[in-house]
Amino acid sequence: MIIFKQAKPLTEHLQKEQKAAKKIGLVPTMGALHKGHLSLIKSSKLSNDITVCSIFVNPTQFNNSEDFKHYPITIEKDIEQLIIAGCDVLFLPGVEEVYPPGYQKKHYNLGSIENSLEGFYRPGHFQGVCQVVDRLLQIINPDNLYMGQKDFQQCMVIKKLLELTRKDKIIRLNISPTIRENDGLAMSSRNLRLNDTEKILATSIYKELTAIKNNFHLKPLHSLIQMAKDHLQEKNFAVDYVEIANMQDLNPAKNSEEPSVALIAASIGNVRLIDNLILN
Ligand code: AMP
Repeated sequence: MIIFKQAKPLTEHLQKEQKAAKKIGLVPTMGALHKGHLSLIKSSKLSNDITVCSIFVNPTQFNNSEDFKHYPITIEKDIEQLIIAGCDVLFLPGVEEVYPPGYQKKHYNLGSIENSLEGFYRPGHFQGVCQVVDRLLQIINPDNLYMGQKDFQQCMVIKKLLELTRKDKIIRLNISPTIRENDGLAMSSRNLRLNDTEKILATSIYKELTAIKNNFHLKPLHSLIQMAKDHLQEKNFAVDYVEIANMQDLNPAKNSEEPSVALIAASIGNVRLIDNLILN
């Protein structure tokens, strides 16, 4: 695996490969890699000649400075895992490579998707996500982009970003299913910040999503939402939202005939977790 810390040599390296008709897959991450990230590397390797993984804890997408400060960093272990997974290129930039002097902060017109759910509770988050992904796309110019359903709304935002900014080149967005621990807990870098008791407690999020799915056609949606909120609050979660949303626009679903997804964001102590489950 070749590690690039600077953007320019990486762009030049990949341009050469593209001239030789090589297909490039990009897996953007913030590191502290787990099996969820590695599943994206695996998907990319199946359909591309070169798989590039980026590790960059992007400061512009954090609305909470404590969350940024405590974001787990395990770079040596990450490199080992990427080598074993057969990743070809790791892009490991510093902030000044992603946002060099003179970088003009863009605003992306994402529409209503920007301000609901995650966007509401993390103001500015999706603008920051778009800034970093837009820059990574400029630097790497991939044919395929790999993201996880775990961040359902983020996938919708990136789909919109590609429509807005990549009119002359088609970049395919490939969405991989959420990889879970055996007990259902969605794998997440932030799980490293949970102690053993909290990790067991955290499985309640998936349990509530599953309960919503099992009762989706049996009970009114508002009562399913309220029940999940009550159960989580009883267990001392601070719940940001439990929502049953239309899969196309993430507006609240009106009935169980709509293609729907249940989404939860809740914190244990100061560790905020998100998860979702497609319902039909
Ligand atoms: P992150 O490092 O958390 O920014 O995640 C990088 C990418 O990995 C994003 O596209 C995430 O959606 C994806 N991802 C994170 N957790 C999982 C998981 N448990 N299963 C599948 N993909 C995941």
